[in-house]
Amino acid sequence: MTDLSELAAALHLPTEPVRAPMFIDGKDFAGASDWVTRKSPGHGMPVTATLRASKGDLDLAVAAARRAFDDGRWSGLPGEQRAAVLLKVAQLIRDNVETLAYLETLESGKPIGQSRGEVTAAAGIWEYAAGLARVVHGDSHDTLGPDMFGLVVRQPVGVVGIVTPWNFPFFILSERLPFALTAGCTVVVKPAELTSTTTLRLAALLTEAGLPDGVVNVVTGLGSVVGQALAEHMDVDMISFTGSTPVGRSVLAAAGGNMKKVGLELGGKNPQIVFADADLDDAADAIAFGIAFNAGQCCVSGSRLVVHRSVEQELVERVQAVLAKVRVGDPLDASNHVGAIVEARQFDKIRGFIDAGTRDGAQLVCGGTASSEGERFFIQPTVFRNVQPGSALAQEEIFGPVLAVTTFDTFEQAIQLANGVPYGLAASIWTRDLQGAFKSLRDVQAGRIWVNCTITGGPELPIGGVKQSGIGRETGRYGVEEYTELKSVHVQLGNRPRWIA
Ligand code: NAP
Ligand code: MG
Repeated sequence: MTDLSELAAALHLPTEPVRAPMFIDGKDFAGASDWVTRKSPGHGMPVTATLRASKGDLDLAVAAARRAFDDGRWSGLPGEQRAAVLLKVAQLIRDNVETLAYLETLESGKPIGQSRGEVTAAAGIWEYAAGLARVVHGDSHDTLGPDMFGLVVRQPVGVVGIVTPWNFPFFILSERLPFALTAGCTVVVKPAELTSTTTLRLAALLTEAGLPDGVVNVVTGLGSVVGQALAEHMDVDMISFTGSTPVGRSVLAAAGGNMKKVGLELGGKNPQIVFADADLDDAADAIAFGIAFNAGQCCVSGSRLVVHRSVEQELVERVQAVLAKVRVGDPLDASNHVGAIVEARQFDKIRGFIDAGTRDGAQLVCGGTASSEGERFFIQPTVFRNVQPGSALAQEEIFGPVLAVTTFDTFEQAIQLANGVPYGLAASIWTRDLQGAFKSLRDVQAGRIWVNCTITGGPELPIGGVKQSGIGRETGRYGVEEYTELKSVHVQLGNRPRWIA
């Protein structure tokens, strides 16, 4: 095969699948597993091959992470040294942007320019998290009287299992892994089987950067087997899961065996709330982006437009005009804005929602067309008006480029519609009225709010959801705290008051 970096530079498909074995205890690991081939959803051609781990393979990975945690080879290092390794990782990611982005696009179907942007932004997260390795600290209490001193010590939680989805494989991993490492934890990662290769390439870069063996291990394969076993594992201290709400619920139950700490980042049905005084041009562009970006396969996708009745017609026309210019197609063609749907199952699910929308009496404004010719899966961004708030289109996470438009007349109705779903991941508010913006950002139930913007931000602010969108927060200083436990210490100064005098 031609060198991978040459293929990436030329943006040619590989002539045979790029093989990526698992990574356990600092070494490539194949075990006795079968190779599973992944076809590019944008090209219908085999592009990569990964292994389907057994529970025994997972046990080896957990044992390696356990040893690496217990002997302190990582958690015992000064924060300064941990930071140095993480900074080196960031540099290696930057040095390998082209190859990582190329592999990400082949497996996920997202446009190559977007993949480059995500990998580059991920490097920035590693840099941010590196700095935090020197910041993590506890508290002291000098208000407990003359004879007592209190300490709150922040310690790494231990061995962490990280399960990631296929929609932003490298970026979502980078919102979690460097924070767990900053805290001093050791890790077993289970990426989505469809998109495991960039996670495996990262593992090699970690070793190159000087991360000790066993600190990060990657096990690939089926979520129902190896992800489930990781969530159940008695030797794993925490599970950080990103994916769908139903699987998150089963992870929560599985974690109960040894009461492991749980972080869940799950689904969303995120409203774009547009008041009558909003800048409609700004809003229209963002609404089009919010539904078409990553072909709508985005946990914070703005999949519901909740708009004041007086501007609905005009806004929908403007959104339609923006979407008419969106190019959907070959993700290796840098001029396309939107690539492929990740796989046949997801493609069929989205089409099912489009059919249901028409059946439920919603009015199709644009899009709705889908093509799976040659096992390449493309869907045109789709807008439905007059969507009933209780219908599937308005309530369920579609995870595709389908926008459901509903109108309101009063502020109270807007908030009620925005909050009237089981999810609470993100919301965008569009208004020029400062008081209205603050009133709504207080009342809208979501982990993340964007005012006059959407799907933006860096690692400084935390991410996560309320209601059935999850538990816990990632990124920011909170993202490190997530991977720590608190230990309270009382220190008696002088003699302890006697029980028996
Ligand atoms: P998914 O089906 O829940 O899978 C997510 C991950 O969990 C994959 O690695 C999957 O493995 C694994 N998995 C499957 N069954 C499991 C089990 N029983 N125990 C443990 N792990 C298991 O979600 P998806 O289809 O990949 O991604 C789409 C969903 O993710 C959407 O609902 C979206 O909203 C959500 N998401 C949320 C966020 C967020 O930050 N809130 C970010 C991105 C995505 P395999 O697929 O390899 O079998
Ligand atoms: Mg799935």
